[in-house]
Amino acid sequence: MIILVVNAGSSSLKYQLIDMKDESVLAKGNCDRIGIDGHISHKTSDGRKFEADINFSTHTEAFMELVKALTTGDAKVIDSMDEISAVGHRIVQGADVFDKSVLVTDEVIDKIDELRELAPVHNHAHALALRACKSVIPASVPQVVVFDTAFHQTMPPKAFMFGLPYEDYEKYHVRKYGFHGTSHRFVSKALAEAMGKDVKDLKIVSCHLGNGSSITAVDGGKSVDTSMGFTPLDGVVMGTRTGSVDPSAVTFVADKHGFTPSEMSEYMNKKSGFLGVSGVGSDNRDVQAAALEGNERAILVSDMLTYEIQKYIGSYAAAMNGIDAILFTGGIGENSWEVREAACENMDYFGIKIDKALNKSIRGKLQKISTPDSKIEVWIVPTNEELLIARDTLELISK
Ligand code: AMP
Repeated sequence: MIILVVNAGSSSLKYQLIDMKDESVLAKGNCDRIGIDGHISHKTSDGRKFEADINFSTHTEAFMELVKALTTGDAKVIDSMDEISAVGHRIVQGADVFDKSVLVTDEVIDKIDELRELAPVHNHAHALALRACKSVIPASVPQVVVFDTAFHQTMPPKAFMFGLPYEDYEKYHVRKYGFHGTSHRFVSKALAEAMGKDVKDLKIVSCHLGNGSSITAVDGGKSVDTSMGFTPLDGVVMGTRTGSVDPSAVTFVADKHGFTPSEMSEYMNKKSGFLGVSGVGSDNRDVQAAALEGNERAILVSDMLTYEIQKYIGSYAAAMNGIDAILFTGGIGENSWEVREAACENMDYFGIKIDKALNKSIRGKLQKISTPDSKIEVWIVPTNEELLIARDTLELISK
């Protein structure tokens, strides 16, 4: 059974073709620069490649190229789209409308599009891709949507409400939604399996650290709190995003710069974080390299990140009345031993002890890095959001 996983952005369509027999990736690629000029890069698991500048002005045209890449030419992996059992789509914002993955209908697409106000960059693009997919792929192939927010729908109101007047929640749906839910769900389950335990018996702090970062308290397999909020801007400092800021500082800075609300939003989403504080760049590797050379602002933003991670660990220990395990995932969490080491430093009150030499030697691999006498187990758990989307898709169509 072969499943196509699609991750659509406003100008890109990333995809993976997964054979569910052994959960292997047959091919992956990206139709990039939709509506600008257009470029497709496609690669098969046995190393064949197709790369071309092709003008696609819409998501539908990009989808047609994706189908061509999969079914024709030297890098084809299937003869026709009839060999695909289903398509699974990643959707950023499901709000409180979707608390689990669902089969796609016209009503579901309209609802996702309606939620665009809550995720302006993503949801409309998802709706465009869903409609494009319906028009290009045979109607007999079911489609499934998997939401980044769904896993966090188990948060209690005390965790997801803001101290704004209640009408803003009722009228405008302003509340914490949380993101990266697909990743947190995947890694917390994978960690439980690695620990040989039932996820229902574990209190986990899941640290997804990448270009965007979020930290989630997973109690008994359910998200009970998370660091991202109404949008993916809240929480810890990120590549170009501020993370949490005193709201009064936001209105103050907007006033000083003469920014409109959307200009201020752009400033906090694209010009801040590692980039804004360090002045070096948004990529953790560049910041770490500059920090090693003694760049004080690069050291500062690295310290800010690890200090914030530690504070989340502390607050989630309080929220869950304990922690059994902490996991690191995402590009930074899986690869940066420096960030993991610093985040676990001076945490002896919690009984957190990592094997520093082991931690330093591991990159991108499922591995326990805490010492045998550490009260809390600390793990690196590689994430795989596409695989979880494919698994959800398979489960739904099998029903
Ligand atoms: P993601 O958004 O999950 O793809 O993660 C991207 C982030 O991971 C970037 O900030 C990268 O600098 C960081 N990253 C990737 N590889 C490494 C590495 N080997 N060491 C440190 N950071 C890394």
